[in-house]
Amino acid sequence: MLLDKGIYSACVWVPKIKTSLRAITSVRKLSSSISSHEEGKYKGKYDVIIAGGGMVGCTLACVMGKTSLLSNLRVLLLEGSPDKKFELKPEYSNRVVALSQNTKTLMNSINVWGHIEKMRLQPVRHMQVWDACSDALITFSSTDIMDDDVAYIVENDVLLHAVNTELKSPEIKNIEVVYGAKIEGYEIPTTHGSQESIVKMSNGDTYSCQLLIGADGANSAVRKAMGVQYLSWNYDQMGVVATLHLAEETENTTAWQRFLPTGPVALLPLDSKRSSLVWSTSNTHAKELLNLPQEQFVDALNDALWKQYPRSSSVDACTSWVGSWLKSVGLPDGAERQLPPSVRDIAPGSRAAFPLGFGHSTRYIAPGVALVGDAAHRVHPLAGQGVNLGFGDVKDLADLMSDCIYAGYDITHHDWLERYESSRQRHNVPTQLAVDALNRLYAFDIPPLVLIRSVGLQITNALHPIKKLIMSHAAT
Ligand SMILES: Cc1cc2nc3c(=O)[nH]c(=O)nc-3n(C[C@H](O)[C@H](O)[C@H](O)COP(=O)(O)OP(=O)(O)OC[C@H]3O[C@@H](n4cnc5c(N)ncnc54)[C@H](O)[C@@H]3O)c2cc1C
Repeated sequence: MLLDKGIYSACVWVPKIKTSLRAITSVRKLSSSISSHEEGKYKGKYDVIIAGGGMVGCTLACVMGKTSLLSNLRVLLLEGSPDKKFELKPEYSNRVVALSQNTKTLMNSINVWGHIEKMRLQPVRHMQVWDACSDALITFSSTDIMDDDVAYIVENDVLLHAVNTELKSPEIKNIEVVYGAKIEGYEIPTTHGSQESIVKMSNGDTYSCQLLIGADGANSAVRKAMGVQYLSWNYDQMGVVATLHLAEETENTTAWQRFLPTGPVALLPLDSKRSSLVWSTSNTHAKELLNLPQEQFVDALNDALWKQYPRSSSVDACTSWVGSWLKSVGLPDGAERQLPPSVRDIAPGSRAAFPLGFGHSTRYIAPGVALVGDAAHRVHPLAGQGVNLGFGDVKDLADLMSDCIYAGYDITHHDWLERYESSRQRHNVPTQLAVDALNRLYAFDIPPLVLIRSVGLQITNALHPIKKLIMSHAAT
C-alpha cells in the first residue's frame, strides 16, 4: 500500500512516466486482489461497502435503502460490535445527542423519527448560554427565533435502535448488514478508474466494492488507508457525562450551558425531572470528578452551575453600560436571565468521561472512497454539532449519488465525489473553526478578553437577525 502511494506521488511529479507506472500499479493491485481472494474466503462484490455502523453509517445505509435511485445498488454495512438486543430501560442512557431540525427532517424522510418518538425524546424550546466571568448571556427560544423546537435530545441507543428497526423493514431489499464484523485493513485504488477496493476482515474473509464509504469514527482506518492529511489536536479536556436527577419537577425544556474558565458545563433536558450532563473540563479535573463520592460530585456540579467566579469591576461596569444602552434603544438587554435548575442526585453508575479533540481530514474523498461523519471531522461537543454534521454528510452524499446515477454516471465518478467533498467542507469547516474558536475564547478569564466576548455576546443576543442566522446554520 505504501509503495503504491509512493508510485502515485511519482505519477504527480513525473508525468512522463505516468502511464507506465500506472500500468505497474494496476498489475500489482490486481495480483494482490487475487491473492487476498485466494488466501481467505472471498465473500463477494458489492456496489458500496459502508465501513462502520455507528449512528452515521447506519443512517446512510437506511437512506440508501429508501432512496429509489439508490435502491438498485448492492450495499454492505460492516459493523465491528455485535448486534445487541435493545431494551428501553426506565433510566436514561448517559450518552445523548442534541439533534437539529435538519436531522429531524432527514430522520422523518426515512421513517425513523416516528420510531424515536414512540420510544422517547425531549424537545428543547429554550436555550440559555452564559459566562461565569460576567453577566453576559445569550438565549435562543423556539417562539421568537425558529417557530419550531430549537433541538431534540435523544439517547444515542434510541437513535441507533430506531434506524436499525427501519433498516430491517421488508421495504429495504438492497442492504446487507454484518455485525461483529471487525475490519482489519483495506486496499484502495490509487487512481481513478474501474479498480475496486478490497476490505479485509480479521477472520480472513474479504469483500470487494466499487465505492468504499468510511463511517468508522474519529480513528478511521479508511481515512488512514487513503493516506490523506489529517489536522487534529486534543483539547486536553474530557467530557464528563451523567444522568442527573433535578431538585424540582418542571416542564424542563431548557438546555443550559455555562462557560467556566475550565470549560463549559451543559444540562440537556430529558424529561420533567431529569437532565443529561456534558461537563467539559481538564483531564485531571475530569478524573477527580469521576472518583468523587456521589454526593460530593453533585455538590461540585451545583457549584459549577451556581458559584460566583471572581469578577473584574471594569468588565461589570462596561457590560452594565452596554445593557442599559441596548435597553434605551429598545433592544433586549439580557436581563431575561433564568436561573438554572439545582441537581439533587445522579443516576448510579451513569458517570463516564470521553476525551475531546478536533479533527479535520483535508480530503473527504479518494479514488473510489468517501468519508462521512467523525471519520472526516471531529468537533468539541459544546455546540452539539458533531453527529448533525455527519447526518448532513449522509444527506448530501445520498443526493449526489442519486444525481450521478440519474445523469448516467458511475457512482465513483470523480466529479461527483468532488462535489460531495466541496459541498460538505464548505459547511463543516467553518462550523468546526467557529466551535474551536468559541472554546478557546472562553478558556481565558483575563479581563480584556472577558470584556470583548461579553460585549460580543450581549450584542449578538440583542440582534435577532444574527441569532436567527446562527440557528439556521446550526440546523443545517
Ligand atoms: C461527550 C460527547 C457529547 C456529544 N454530544 C453531541 C451532541 O449533543 N450533538 C451532536 O451532534 N454530537 C455530539 N457528540 C458527537 C457525536 O457523538 C459523534 O459525532 C458521533 O457519535 C459520530 O458518529 P459516527 O457514526 O460518525 O462515528 P462513531 O459513533 O464513532 O461510529 C463509528 C462506528 O464504526 C465502527 N468501527 C470502527 N472501526 C471499525 C472496524 N475496524 N471494523 C468494524 N467496525 C468499525 C465502530 O464500532 C462504530 O460503531 C458528542 C460527543 C461526545 C464525546
